Amino acid sequence: MRKSIAIIGGGAAALAFASFINTERYDVTIYEKNKALGRKFLVAGKGGFNLTHSQAISTLKGKYTPEGFLDRCLDTFTNTDFRKWLDEIGIPTYIGSSGRIFPIQGIKPIEVLQNILQHIKNRGVVIKTDYEWKGERLADVMVYALGGASWPVTGSDGSWIQYFEEALPFYGVNCAVRVEWPKSTLQQVEGKPLKNIGIEYKNTRYHGEAVITKFGLEGGVIYQHSLEIRSALNMHQSTTIYLDLKKDLSEQQILLKLKQSGEKTLTSTLKRDLKLSKASIELLKGFVSKDDFLHKVTLAQCIKKLPILVTDMAPIDEAISTIGGIPIDSLTSNFELSDIPDHYCIGEMVNWHAPTGGYLLQGCFSMGYFLATNLSARHP
Ligand SMILES: Cc1cc2nc3c(=O)[nH]c(=O)nc-3n(C[C@H](O)[C@H](O)[C@H](O)COP(=O)(O)OP(=O)(O)OC[C@H]3O[C@@H](n4cnc5c(N)ncnc54)[C@H](O)[C@@H]3O)c2cc1C
Repeated sequence: MRKSIAIIGGGAAALAFASFINTERYDVTIYEKNKALGRKFLVAGKGGFNLTHSQAISTLKGKYTPEGFLDRCLDTFTNTDFRKWLDEIGIPTYIGSSGRIFPIQGIKPIEVLQNILQHIKNRGVVIKTDYEWKGERLADVMVYALGGASWPVTGSDGSWIQYFEEALPFYGVNCAVRVEWPKSTLQQVEGKPLKNIGIEYKNTRYHGEAVITKFGLEGGVIYQHSLEIRSALNMHQSTTIYLDLKKDLSEQQILLKLKQSGEKTLTSTLKRDLKLSKASIELLKGFVSKDDFLHKVTLAQCIKKLPILVTDMAPIDEAISTIGGIPIDSLTSNFELSDIPDHYCIGEMVNWHAPTGGYLLQGCFSMGYFLATNLSARHP
């Protein structure tokens, strides 16, 4: 006998599940509270639609926390599978210089969404919009794909948490951190990028770019540390990150250049010989005492490891993703709620994390595919 499946929420994970569930065996309906599906998916497409990453799958799997939680589904639907499938539905992709994968130029985010929606409709999936789920059972099998709690304007506001007693509070991750910049420094550096820097936190170092804002620091390199910074700030009022403003030179090489500066002022040595940006030099002036700035050994140390106190993170509404929601230990390895058979949770509503770089969408698509193929193969 045919069974019914209700997918609750119409974001990336729901779209993936609906694309792969066997519609010969199940009557499938998506219930979305907005007037249209995939609003956050479209928001994700705004600054360059980074769908996944081209890394070897073993490296890619290492980006997810908790370690191993998503391994089986990432192995079942890899980044290569994702690209191949996108190609099949008319969305060819390319690998950008950073290894990230995007739709080829000229394809807008809305076209990606429309092609997926067309694919789903062709498979006979019914779409009900303007339907806010409030805890009711709508089908034999319930697949929740309700999303996290950032960017509530997209519908992903986390208010569904009231219907799941095991759910954990949400926190924003992949977001800016607050830094109390000295006033005079901020005037000089606000809006300026810090390119090709390193940021070290708790003995882990990432390289990339960050932008100095009135609030603090934002950008990929800071987002990479956001889970650990979030954990620290949940326990303490502040925590210290370390900037490496000249990552291509060692402290010794920097010191040598400073010593060889001759008659030049230190500022011009920093600019000409060390090629530090104006923003980096202003940060040094703002955070290093005059005595330390004039002491070449200490200055070299500060260029490599400038301590910056972080006192908060951006409000959850502004975060790219959230942690919290359904605890992973309340799910079976098939994403089924252990105490409620036939109720499954996928996507960002589950308490896992990945940095920016296409890993979030890859995680959501792999979860959707994995559950769809498992349910499709299940004996009646
Ligand atoms: C600014 C920004 C940029 C991003 N850029 C990228 C990127 O480039 N690459 C990347 O990999 N990831 C990116 N992400 C993250 C990515 O978009 C999300 O991780 C992903 O969309 C999560 O998918 P999901 O299906 O779990 O949830 P969502 O896409 O959030 O979908 C959940 C859906 O459930 C609906 N819903 C909620 N409650 C109810 C209810 N009670 N009844 C019915 N429907 C309900 C919501 O309206 C929503 O449509 C970005 C996110 C943001 C905010």
